[in-house]
Amino acid sequence: MVEIKSQFDPELRKRIVKKKQVAVIPVGSIEQHGPHLPISTDSDIVTEIARQLSEKENFLLLPTITYGVSYEHAPFFNLSIKESTLNTVITDLCTSLLANNIRTIFVINGHHGNLKPLKNIDEKLQKLSKNKLDVFSLSYWHFMQREFDHAGFVETSLMLAISKNIKMKLAKKGLVTDGMNKSQISSLGRLATKSFPKVTKNGIWGDPRKATKREGQIILDEIMKNLEKKCQTCLTGHSSKLHQ
Ligand SMILES: [Zn+2]
Repeated sequence: MVEIKSQFDPELRKRIVKKKQVAVIPVGSIEQHGPHLPISTDSDIVTEIARQLSEKENFLLLPTITYGVSYEHAPFFNLSIKESTLNTVITDLCTSLLANNIRTIFVINGHHGNLKPLKNIDEKLQKLSKNKLDVFSLSYWHFMQREFDHAGFVETSLMLAISKNIKMKLAKKGLVTDGMNKSQISSLGRLATKSFPKVTKNGIWGDPRKATKREGQIILDEIMKNLEKKCQTCLTGHSSKLHQ
């Protein structure tokens, strides 16, 4: 893996000339994750996933975009940027990568509120670059069997697997959807995108109390396996473009 921020210009340019590079941009958020997980949770998880992916596939890892769109967590703590801002930042970064002759980019997303501004960013950049850029936007939770939660069992287990900054003693049960049908859950999900505290009361979707490091490791391994496979498919599917 090559972590781009610690590189030096001459070697980096040599590397790009020698071999087509694939860049990875992790995108997270800064927002409340209950009393037991830090506000950097989404950024922490996506950074680790992007790091492991880059290491395995020998990609170029860019620094994480730590801020995302999290207004729905107000009045709980969130540091948010507008959807249009995030879209612009990614657009500018990808355009800048292209100017440096890096044409294949994976945007790895770690926060639900970033979905909308990242939607169709691949097509937008393809048009803008006149087909020179291949951008793939992937959200990590689409690569695990378990249901997405917020500071619940899954996210807390993932954090236990990658971080020491967790206060398990403070973990509290949040909104539990067991027994609800799919349409009830998705209508709550829609409401949560407007006001997360209103729907969950304490800002937690799920029940983190039984989360374990071991379970987090299992989920993380599953995500990595499926994500790597998906990235390989993206690369081979676009192989003709890669060698333009
Ligand atoms: Zn989260």
